[in-house]
Amino acid sequence: MKDPAALRQIHEHRFGVTPEIFVAPGRVNLIGEHTDYAEGFVMPVAIDFATLAAISPRNDGKIVIYAENFHQERSFPANPLPTKASGHWSDYPLGVMAILAGEGYTIPPLSLSLWGDVPLGSGLSSSAAVEVATATAVTSLIGAAIPGPKLARLCQRAENEFVGANCGIMDQFISVNGAADNALLLDCRDLSYRLAPIPANMALVIANTMVKHSVAGDGYTTRRAEVEEACRILATHRPEIKFLRDATVADLEAWGHEIPPNALKRARHVITENQRTLEAADALLRHDLPALGKLMHEAHVSYSKDFEGSCVEADTMVDLAQDLPGLIGARLTGGGFGGCTVNVVEIDEATAFAAALKERYRQTTGIDPEIHICHASAGAHRVA
Ligand code: ADP
Ligand code: MG
Repeated sequence: MKDPAALRQIHEHRFGVTPEIFVAPGRVNLIGEHTDYAEGFVMPVAIDFATLAAISPRNDGKIVIYAENFHQERSFPANPLPTKASGHWSDYPLGVMAILAGEGYTIPPLSLSLWGDVPLGSGLSSSAAVEVATATAVTSLIGAAIPGPKLARLCQRAENEFVGANCGIMDQFISVNGAADNALLLDCRDLSYRLAPIPANMALVIANTMVKHSVAGDGYTTRRAEVEEACRILATHRPEIKFLRDATVADLEAWGHEIPPNALKRARHVITENQRTLEAADALLRHDLPALGKLMHEAHVSYSKDFEGSCVEADTMVDLAQDLPGLIGARLTGGGFGGCTVNVVEIDEATAFAAALKERYRQTTGIDPEIHICHASAGAHRVA
């Protein structure tokens, strides 16, 4: 995490006022990929890469937002707030304020400084960290006590409705509700959740492939449409199937021949991934790391082959980890087509594992990857 004292100074220097400071974490998803918008299960972990938000009131009618990562400041009228995105980083914090305003909260003139170390666009959800840091800061400034799950929903709506990115609820939910030393099994249907402890001998090694491929027609949107198509076809036979969460492998065996081949594969990924995610939470609860590792491996194969959401570099990063000492399980994490892999590694081997994986990936691909040993961290909160 960036140094809150440094952000305080930056804010004071720029705005001449001492701010309150809040932090919201990025996340890594241990398992449960592309299940959230099918109302299924995910099991993310909040990590110690985070976005800080410094906030203070103003008296000139303006919302002024400064991003230290971009060395840029943007200014907007507080009343009325803009209602449209402009394709700029400020859409994320502004979107949160616009959604809060739409819910009836008055957003007063304010100065907001943002600074984060979640790598941007690498699948560790820097966007949710910015949204949740903003929401936590703004709701504290206006004295609004919004329950965690509802705050996460408002941040998701900011990304869906204001920014215009079609994300599920996972990223914002874990950034709000994460807990130190725990993963969080989330039921995306009703937002009920339970914590699953990360054993003390388990390290999380996040390996950034340093690539992000754009897929024709936007991979995420295409896959999502295929998942929904498969669901519609299954629902003609079993109307109680509202989302793929409600479908089983037996349904695919019975009616899969009616589903176009790609949609069928995507559906098979989502349906089996839901099952694996529940089993992975059980494995963590009984400290069965080999079982967790096996499920992660199966999840990667399913993500790569059935969902076709991986890429050469991510498959390479996962393959290169396989015979390194200490590996328990490795898979591509996040929305896909690049980004990071998550490796569950025995803690005593983690440093050597990270160094060896970095060297192997560099030699194989010619790309120098960023590799981080991360800790399961708390959700958004005020920094003392
Ligand atoms: P990710 O996988 O990291 O969430 P996204 O494309 O969803 O990738 O979100 C990345 C975008 O979020 C950035 O391009 C930027 O607009 C915004 N963002 C992330 N972190 C920051 C930050 N610290 N300050 C300002 N904007 C940020
Ligand atoms: Mg994002």
